[in-house]
Amino acid sequence: MVVLKTSRELEAMRAAGRISSRALKLAGEAVEPGVSTLEIDRIVRKYIEEQGATPSFLNYGGFPASACISVNDVVIHGIPRKNQILKQGDIVSIDVGAFYEGFHGDNAWTFPCGEVSREAQALMDATRESLFEGIAAARLGNRLGDIGSAVQRYVEARGYSVVRDFVGHGVGAELHEDPSVPNYGTPGRGVRLLPGMTIAIEPMVNAGVHTVEVLPDKWTTVTTDGKLSAHFEHTIAITPDGPVILTLPD
Ligand code: MG
Repeated sequence: MVVLKTSRELEAMRAAGRISSRALKLAGEAVEPGVSTLEIDRIVRKYIEEQGATPSFLNYGGFPASACISVNDVVIHGIPRKNQILKQGDIVSIDVGAFYEGFHGDNAWTFPCGEVSREAQALMDATRESLFEGIAAARLGNRLGDIGSAVQRYVEARGYSVVRDFVGHGVGAELHEDPSVPNYGTPGRGVRLLPGMTIAIEPMVNAGVHTVEVLPDKWTTVTTDGKLSAHFEHTIAITPDGPVILTLPD
């Protein structure tokens, strides 16, 4: 069931989104050679808790950390580790959610660690831009398929592939609500977009094939060909005035 939010609820979601966004920004600023992914997770948790919020991912389905930190060929759900030290040239996808006054904000960004290859930068740029293509399509009169196809078209025109096994989702009082928001689709198809819908659009884009595999830890999700993957996400609201990004720092 899709839960539509009132304007008052959207304001509350904006507050949760603001905390999520600032936590993600701090995490990104911490990305540099020599830093462990666990240190970044600590920064995220500390910031969110200082705001009187709760990290959405901590213990969600048993996830053991506050941020998912996914390096290079890890697509999503990387578990932060003390012995995972970032190095020059890595691309680091960080996914952060915060729960505040009844609502979640959910966002992700892929950060370069120092200097990265041209190929890695191009993948990150295309994935980020595909997110904004998807957001631009999230307007009244459109359907979910318009969002997915906008992302897919942008990505595939550049020779990359969109992950199929994981998709975006509704966000609200629950971290994952209906509807599912695929990063692929057919224009004009799928659930009709309505005012008050709040969704996380989150393209996961692979440099090679679209297929992924979940490792035996049941979380870490990698590309099956070992090539790079990037991930960008915003929580947005569908409004009569167009899409509104809820996960912004101010
Ligand atoms: Mg999400």
